[in-house]
Order: sequence, then structure tokens, then C-alpha cells
Amino acid sequence: MGTLRSTFHRSSSLAARSSAPQRRGLGRAKGVAIAAVTGAILAGGVPFGVATASAAPVALPPLPAGAALPALPAPAPLPDAAAAQRWFDDQLKAVLPPNSSAVPSKALTVQPVSGKLSSGYGARWGSHHGGVDIAAGIGTPVLAAADGEVINAGTASGFGLWVRVRHDDGTITVYGHVNEYLVNVGQRVVAGQQIATVGNRGQSTGPHLHFEVWDPNGNQVDPNVWLAQRGVAVTWS
Ligand SMILES: [Zn+2]
Repeated sequence: MGTLRSTFHRSSSLAARSSAPQRRGLGRAKGVAIAAVTGAILAGGVPFGVATASAAPVALPPLPAGAALPALPAPAPLPDAAAAQRWFDDQLKAVLPPNSSAVPSKALTVQPVSGKLSSGYGARWGSHHGGVDIAAGIGTPVLAAADGEVINAGTASGFGLWVRVRHDDGTITVYGHVNEYLVNVGQRVVAGQQIATVGNRGQSTGPHLHFEVWDPNGNQVDPNVWLAQRGVAVTWS
């Protein structure tokens, strides 16, 4: 037992006091050799030297007083899921024949509301009516007519509240007198997505949706014609 105790003592004191690598190495080598012979009894002494040697390289040096940590790089922006879907759809359309049934059957253009046509596009009461009025109950869902980006959602003179959507080809659709809007400016919407509800706000004589279409050149067009040209058979006429 005297040999074990003195070996343990020498091994640990050498590791603690001596800075001579060759002497420390010798002490550890002796400890390991004895541990191999004596087994578990000395095992506690050997890891002491091993731990001392192996812990040192991973210890972080203290930061100098007042040192600032380097700034982390800004996180990369998350990929835009809608943009990715558009890209995918475009790739698909590019390799398939036009109107292929293999293209996902999501409608490109939809009727924006269900109701009854109460006022058509064009001359009305000696002035120009820039859209169609579709009478419907307050709260009736108003849908985006096509994919696009919301460019207005909020108050508008005459309309009370409105939503405007710019579509991918530059066409802008307008949804007026809505009771509430469910989208925000900058939001990406898809055809058929509910964006608002029918209301009776602004200069309105009854609950209805005022629906306008502006072509990419900034000219108003008849919404019924625009819809028909895109294969939409409206149910309100
Ligand atoms: Zn109107």
C-alpha cells in the first residue's frame, strides 16, 4: 500500500508542480504502468494526470476586459415559398404542351364574388362606371381574381375600404366597398384566395362588391370581358 500511495502522490504532485515536460511524461508513464498492474485501485490516480493534460487544450482563454464579441453574420433570408412555387409552375408549363392536363388544375383566374350583377361597366347616369357592381350579402367572401401581390388594403375615398391586387402580368384588380379586408399590403395571394368580405362602406347604396380591372398599360377594361377572355363563365350576369 505504501508503494501505491507514494506513486499516486508523486504522479499528482509532479503534474501540479513540475513544468518540465519530460519529467511529467515520465511520471505519467509510471502511473499508467502501475495502474495496468494494480487495476482499479490506482485508476483514480491515472485519470487525474490524463484529465489535467487533456482538459487544458479545450479551455477557452478569458476575454480581455472590454473586449467585444465579433458580430454574428446576418441570417440568410428565408426562401420565398410562393416564389418557389411560381418558379416550379413556370418550369412545368415550359416543358408541357399548352393546357396540358398534367399541369395542376388550379384556375388562373376566378370569379371574385358570388352575387347578382347590379351595375355593369361603362356609361351610367351620365358618367363612367369603372367596374362592375355585384350585389351580395354583407360578409360574402371576396376572392382574389388571380395570383398576385396586394398593393392596397385599407381605406379609400369613395370605396370606404378597398383591396387592390397587382397580378403577375401587371394587371391590377380593385375590390371596393369591402366590409373587411383579410390581407396586407405586400402579401402574395393566389387565385381564389379570400381577401375580403362584401360590405356597404363608402359611397354605396347597398351591400355589393365593386370590381375593377386595369390592364398592364393602366387602362380600365370591362371586368366581364376580362374574365370571359380568361375562361371564367361568371354566374352573376
Ligand atoms: Zn361600382
